[in-house]
Amino acid sequence: MKRHTGQDRSVTRNWHPATQAVRGGTARSEYGETSEAIFLTSGYAYDSAGQAAGRFAGTETGMTYSRLQNPTVQMLEERLCLMEGAEAGRATCTGMAAMSAALMSHLSAGDHLVAGRALFGSCRVLVDTILPKFGIETTIVDGRDTEAWARARRPNTKAFFLETPANPTLDVCDIAAISDIGHDAGALVVIDNAFASPILQQPLKLGADVVCYSATKHIDGQGRVLAGAVLGSAQWINDIYLAYTRHTGPVLSAFNAWLLLKSLETLDLRVRRMVDNAHAVASFLEGRVPVTLYPGLPSHPQHDLAMRQMSGGGTIVTLHVEDRVQAHALLDALEIIDICNNLGDSRSLMTHCASTTHASVSPTVREEMGITEGLLRLSVGLEDPRDLIADLTQALKRAGL
Ligand SMILES: *Cc1c(COP(=O)(O)O)cnc(C)c1O
Repeated sequence: MKRHTGQDRSVTRNWHPATQAVRGGTARSEYGETSEAIFLTSGYAYDSAGQAAGRFAGTETGMTYSRLQNPTVQMLEERLCLMEGAEAGRATCTGMAAMSAALMSHLSAGDHLVAGRALFGSCRVLVDTILPKFGIETTIVDGRDTEAWARARRPNTKAFFLETPANPTLDVCDIAAISDIGHDAGALVVIDNAFASPILQQPLKLGADVVCYSATKHIDGQGRVLAGAVLGSAQWINDIYLAYTRHTGPVLSAFNAWLLLKSLETLDLRVRRMVDNAHAVASFLEGRVPVTLYPGLPSHPQHDLAMRQMSGGGTIVTLHVEDRVQAHALLDALEIIDICNNLGDSRSLMTHCASTTHASVSPTVREEMGITEGLLRLSVGLEDPRDLIADLTQALKRAGL
């Protein structure tokens, strides 16, 4: 009997998540390699002119061009779909390519989008500046206020877009309730799930329609490559998303897809350990700085909701100190934790959002988003939490806290 490699969805969807993360989507070549092969090829040669014509006509299955299909990228896409419980999905070259393609493919001039206030800086620019340039109306709401989503609906509302927990304020939005409101309005509900990762939160199972990732974050999680993904129903991916991306081409390279296949094998182990470490660090910071926000601590204003829809408090801790001067002093005093605006990495990283990730949004918008001059975002990695706490202890002291 042929051993199962991981391609047949009727079998693999019944596997447990850990098995899917290691074996899902595997398509072995005739050499029987254990680790997935990297197909660094842009094109595919055909046996005959008739076969080429058949593939273009869609009457024959097979690959035609790596903007459209690639065996290594497909293995990654299938594995991500299994882990998320999605019917279909596509990998992209960056997280922003995923977010922009998901929204641009679905929306047209004259449509209306409602988005949560707290978004990754570039997502906010997409909603506030880029989509309106193409005649798409946008409304920003406080995503934590479920009723605000209902009030913002208009007859032409076609999509809801939100991030939860949100960057960097860790606002938590009620995915199930907001999805119901969106569906009542006929809107597609799109979730940026980069902060939680598929390990802690699965928005499609809570009622959302489309989930987008910056795979640069927890999925690679080792600071190597930029990548993204868009996952949803087969109908939406095939008819809406691909109608746009086939011809705009925001695809992932085979090499980067291969790296992410390796990353997915350890995603669960990494994220769960990072959550434990983040919990320890947040507990240490609480009471030592003016404000500590961590969805896994009872002091977080939406702790109950976070724990209902996530299986852990996340890997990010946000803290507020007095002002920019004190925030910069704390960063400059760190010896282990890097000053870095990436997140979800095996290395702990801290950034001052107002002068880095959210420097391109106006001070007024930053204030509306809750990004104060003293806000620092700490992404907790895989180091021993005792060393991280020791580093924070000495840095707080040197920064006069
Ligand atoms: C990083 C990030 C993005 C953008 O992803 P890139 O891979 O940097 O393009 C979008 N949303 C969130 C929440 C992010 O953290």
